[in-house]
Amino acid sequence: MTKPDLILLALDDPAVWPLFDHALQHAGFNVALAQDARSLDKALMGSTPSLVVINETLDGESGLAISGNLLNRFPTLPILLLASNGNPRIYEQAMNYGLYGCLVPPLTSDALVAKIQKSLARAVRTGDWVRREVKRTTASLEERVDALERLLKLGRDITSLLELSQVLQNVVSDAVTLTRADEGCLLLLSEDGRELQNRAGRIFERLPSGWESLPVEGSLAGQVVTSGAPLALNESNLKQVDTAFFVKALVYVPLRLQTNVIGVLGVFNSQRSQAFTDQHTRLLSILADYAAIAIENARLYTISEAERQKFAAVFANIDSGVILLDRRSRILFVNQSVCQAFKLGDQELDGRFLLDAIQHPDMNSLYERVKQNPLKYHEINLDDGQTLNAQYTPIPGIGSAITLQDITHLKELDRLKNDFVHTVSHDLRSPLTAVLGYAELLERVGPLNDQQRDFVKHIQSGVINITSLVNDLLDLSRIEAGFDARKEDVQLEEIVKQSLENLRGILTGKHIRLEVSLPERVPALRGSRIRLRQMVDNLIGNAVKYTPEGGQVSVRLSAEEGLVILQVVDNGPGIPKSEQPHIFDKFYRASNVPSGTPGTGLGLAIVKSIVENHQGRIWVSSTLGEGSTFTVMLPASAPSLESYI
Ligand code: ADP
Repeated sequence: MTKPDLILLALDDPAVWPLFDHALQHAGFNVALAQDARSLDKALMGSTPSLVVINETLDGESGLAISGNLLNRFPTLPILLLASNGNPRIYEQAMNYGLYGCLVPPLTSDALVAKIQKSLARAVRTGDWVRREVKRTTASLEERVDALERLLKLGRDITSLLELSQVLQNVVSDAVTLTRADEGCLLLLSEDGRELQNRAGRIFERLPSGWESLPVEGSLAGQVVTSGAPLALNESNLKQVDTAFFVKALVYVPLRLQTNVIGVLGVFNSQRSQAFTDQHTRLLSILADYAAIAIENARLYTISEAERQKFAAVFANIDSGVILLDRRSRILFVNQSVCQAFKLGDQELDGRFLLDAIQHPDMNSLYERVKQNPLKYHEINLDDGQTLNAQYTPIPGIGSAITLQDITHLKELDRLKNDFVHTVSHDLRSPLTAVLGYAELLERVGPLNDQQRDFVKHIQSGVINITSLVNDLLDLSRIEAGFDARKEDVQLEEIVKQSLENLRGILTGKHIRLEVSLPERVPALRGSRIRLRQMVDNLIGNAVKYTPEGGQVSVRLSAEEGLVILQVVDNGPGIPKSEQPHIFDKFYRASNVPSGTPGTGLGLAIVKSIVENHQGRIWVSSTLGEGSTFTVMLPASAPSLESYI
């Protein structure tokens, strides 16, 4: 049994209560009473009346105003106004406030009950309508939310794909699902911008051959490319245009990358006449935006992947070893050649520290050296007799690269050449000593005339020159072969002092002004005293030899960050710029050497070998006609390597 409807009477006149109460109870309603606005409010809190009857004036307040407030809170509550008279104005006002109607005296019980029942029936109808409407709107909202959620997920899915054909296929099937279309297609603009090529979809399977692409000019899809705006057509307006295939409704949206249109995404209803809505066009446009990004991602990925593969193939197949390191010297890449050379097998190397992964003393010392100074080349001698030349190159933004070239055969050739030079020089020395000895004896065994004495002098100076050449050659081959194993702590300033002392006679003879700067406490060097002496003699000797009479020579020694620096400066003839790179080569003499200047062209080659054997660097800066500065940098002997790491 259904509960009787509750009628709430907001009446302050006790005279009318019995009439209402009696008539309504008799008609089967429940009745409640409120005499003022407050008790009406309270009653509404505690119960749910089916209808309210309110006096035109309730306890001095306007019944209409109270009703207006009530309807703000309960918009579907039916309210009837008990008017004081039949003035049509009050009826009009009640309607404006949204009340159901007015009860106008004189009232009979039957008229009252009939009016209330009619109002209740209307309320039921209104309620039904509201419920239906809410259901409909909720369903439509749910559908939209659902579509947006799917769109979001599709967007995430397709933008994470990197394989182009997969991206395109997914975009089309997502477009079809999202718009509930029969078919879909994705067309991409050709490079020359004249054609739209069908890259994914099903619709073109049914088309005659030759329809794999559409001309931009004159086609519907092309129109979208040109205008950059979506195009939606249904059965009525499709009749007016040539679609080239039979569809009942279609939507085309542009695939836009920044300001450029790169293609068109389309959906079609070919079986059903269902037209596409604006909502479909909007969804499709959003999907097209995702698709354009995904297509670009896939395109860039394809390019970078092709580049990566090319790079990997090149490095995998070249004979030289290649190691790429990050800024903290962790391995980014190592090619096969390196794995073979250091017998690394199949172990995982990426991300490991170089010196952990490749444990070889020469690799350690290469690393120490590149940290000390900008020296870039270093030999690595492998256990199987192979010699690799390692080149270290810093790579800004990444770290560094080490390339390793097999120079075993060059080392062997060099050794053979050195052996040859050594043997020949050695074999030449004995006969030369004999020639010099006999030339000296000539004068003792009998008187020589002036001409004979002159000839003997020529023989002697020739033999001295050849002997010094042979000595230089022998020195060079010894230094290059690394025979100076004995190392000791050497104070370079002492060597410089001795060297200058020996040259004092020539300096005075040529009136050369000498400037010397030898600070105390220059750190010692670890090396061969004899060779370092030879290095200093050669450099200062050259400065004195090439500087003309009355010139100036400066010798400066200094120390800086674990390095000892020697500079020999002169204001002699200088060296032509183009020849400067060659003066450290064996037998090279610059074109501006004044004729008659003694020399073999081996001095600086010896100096360079000595410097390199001591892990140092040498270079020249010179201006023709103004002078030359030779600078040597050598690591100090203090065990300071750690301070560079
Ligand atoms: P050399 O026996 O000819 O002096 P070096 O090997 O010592 O041979 O030097 C090679 C060449 O470098 C010299 O022949 C000369 O052309 C140039 N050179 C070396 N030192 C100087 C200098 N201080 N001033 C000008 N030229 C120099």
